Amino acid sequence: MHDPDANVSLLIEAAERASAYLSMIDARAVAPTAEALSRMDEMGGPLPDHSTSAVEVLRLLDEVGSPATTATTGSRYFGLVIGGALPATLAANWLAAAWDQNVGVRVGSEMGARLEEIVLRWLSDLLRIPNCAGGAFVTGATMGNFTALAAARHSLLARQGWDVEGQGLFGAPELKLVVGEHVHVSVLKAISMLGLGRDRVIRVPADDQGRMIAERLPPLNERTIICIQAGNVNSGAFDPAEAVCAAAADVGAWVHVDGAFGLWAQATEKYSYLCRGLSQADSWATDAHKWLNVPYDSGICFVRDESSMRAAMTATASYLVTSDGREPFHYTPEMSRRSRATEIWAALRSLGRSGISEMIDRSCRQASHMATALARAGYAVLNDVVLNQVLVAFDDDEHTRQTIAAVQNNGTCWCGGTTWGSRFTMRISFSSWRTTMEDVDLSIAAILTAAEESRATVRPV
Ligand SMILES: *Cc1c(COP(=O)(O)O)cnc(C)c1O
Repeated sequence: MHDPDANVSLLIEAAERASAYLSMIDARAVAPTAEALSRMDEMGGPLPDHSTSAVEVLRLLDEVGSPATTATTGSRYFGLVIGGALPATLAANWLAAAWDQNVGVRVGSEMGARLEEIVLRWLSDLLRIPNCAGGAFVTGATMGNFTALAAARHSLLARQGWDVEGQGLFGAPELKLVVGEHVHVSVLKAISMLGLGRDRVIRVPADDQGRMIAERLPPLNERTIICIQAGNVNSGAFDPAEAVCAAAADVGAWVHVDGAFGLWAQATEKYSYLCRGLSQADSWATDAHKWLNVPYDSGICFVRDESSMRAAMTATASYLVTSDGREPFHYTPEMSRRSRATEIWAALRSLGRSGISEMIDRSCRQASHMATALARAGYAVLNDVVLNQVLVAFDDDEHTRQTIAAVQNNGTCWCGGTTWGSRFTMRISFSSWRTTMEDVDLSIAAILTAAEESRATVRPV
């Protein structure tokens, strides 16, 4: 059972299979075929009674699992907002899995705790978060929003003399939640999980880009949490942080920023203008698994008032020996946790400030190249392409629907759909380090061909 040499050859085989997967990823269709998916049955059946060798387990995963994956880590996946995994981050992820550190508590991994501190300092610098802020590594922006809003809930209610962690929300002073009309659903989910009531939020009207209109903010007070976004999930637009933060500061309201992908604009010279005012906020959530291109799952949360974050997340038990240093589990919903900072460290260390800036710039250049080509072909680009997102409408909703289906079937690239204003649109999102201009040109050709062919189906001659 315990044969160290077999372990080595197994890991080498895993590396070989993974390398083969990645080397072929851009030669296959982005979406899996129905046939590949149907083979998933071979992985099922009843729970086996007896053991299977690790080599055989790996073989099954690769032969049946690999073809059934969606090639989101390839260079032509433009759905949702999904980055790939930079080489250094994938390798770091493997090494970290070999370490198998539990970074929840410092005694579990002093190394992991120190690495988190280094990475939080680097990220605060890069994303222009105040030095004093507390930070945490979470699964994604959803949990980042949750953690930050828990800190906000703590802080505003503590100022009213109410201990929400101890007493809950029954009988508590009411908090007012303000969001933009285009708030991301994950913020509403966090609000609902925190007992703040997603149907109680006040929605501020937005302009045609999906930006909150600051002049339409409701009256704010010291019991108000305002959630703004840096990067609308469809248009890429930013809420007016400067005006919102100024209005909030006047009355002691809390401003939370959902910056899942948009916050990375701070890392560039060219696009940081979009982030004006964001550093004035009270808390920030962002993803590393989107634009920083680390493997899933990985998000980060920052809270200006570290003590509120700690108060909202802390827990104690006599067996959990704590130290004088930062105890990671005092800042996160989770206790036991893998070392997400490892891959983030690898990304930051391998690219450096200039490499990160160049990666973000490149996605934005690709978005504007795509938008220009589709507009030139006569299709309506519905958003101002300020960042990495493109929304395009074809002749009518039905034609758009058919075009999206044809693009997905063709397999050269993958784009999804969304509703924007009154129209159904194709949604094209750039965030992979792998995507080249050549990939964009191949994808433009595939989209235009799909649109032409769908026009023939929608309106038969
Ligand atoms: C993706 C996204 C989220 C949710 O992030 P997860 O990583 O899926 O938890 C929240 N807000 C915005 C704007 C996003 O794009």
